[in-house]
Amino acid sequence: MDFKTILQEVYAEILRTKSKGQPASYIPELANINPDKFGIHFCSAQGNHYGLGDHQEKFSCQSIMKVITLCLAIKTEGEEIWKRIGVEPSGTPFNSLVQLEYEHGIPRNPFINAGALVVCDILLNQLDKPKEQFIEFVRRLALNSNIQYNNKVSASEKAHGYRNAALINMMKSFGNIENPIEEVLDFYYSICSIEMTCEELAQTFQLFANNGCIPSTKERVVTTSQSKRINAIMQCCGFYDEAGEFSFKVGLPGKSGVGGGIVAVCPGKYTVAVWSPRLNKK
Ligand code: GLN
Repeated sequence: MDFKTILQEVYAEILRTKSKGQPASYIPELANINPDKFGIHFCSAQGNHYGLGDHQEKFSCQSIMKVITLCLAIKTEGEEIWKRIGVEPSGTPFNSLVQLEYEHGIPRNPFINAGALVVCDILLNQLDKPKEQFIEFVRRLALNSNIQYNNKVSASEKAHGYRNAALINMMKSFGNIENPIEEVLDFYYSICSIEMTCEELAQTFQLFANNGCIPSTKERVVTTSQSKRINAIMQCCGFYDEAGEFSFKVGLPGKSGVGGGIVAVCPGKYTVAVWSPRLNKK
């Protein structure tokens, strides 16, 4: 069966399925999104694209961007980053505080919020103009200059970000945050607010299906080994306390975000991005 037929069958099945879940409301701006949006976009390693539904409508990437911040931190700082963050699945929700205290401020992995905050702290040390340089990096991977931060979403999250403030203060008390916490949080909320379509996300993640190179431009972004390791972390930690179940049911490295997006990578073969603002509990 070719991939177009498979995607059409998936889409038809989704339309027949009763909707469950609600959009994230702890970030008030995200609660305003039409919950019934649905998009899916597939991009093969050969560059064949196919999408259905709302696959060309932008949505809030949220935690999906943590993969791209990790990629840039590995590219700029290399293996040093692993002194400050682990690579173990957490088994706890994305914003959990419980492990941080007894593990002395070292987050389990770069995809839970605590780990992503440390990655942002590392990038603030590495980049002269963090927001400008980060969005330029995303645009390069996406082969698309029309990718932006959404300042309304980042401000909305900042105004209600009590848990992230708790996480970063805890890590600062253990000496694992070097920059002022306000600056790290501001950068973190900005990277989470980046908006993309399913099509743009599937394109952006192509390098992870191609050993660290952007297939169409042949630009090497990270080494083959680094790209494999980023996929390994997506496989083990991309879905927080549902990572095992996603691996069991889907079997691909991937990353979710509270904007309702999921992107997954089949190394050597394809990337696929889906969007539905209705979330499950995890
Ligand atoms: N910006 C969100 C937060 O910090 C990201 C969480 C997510 O997408 N899982 O809560």
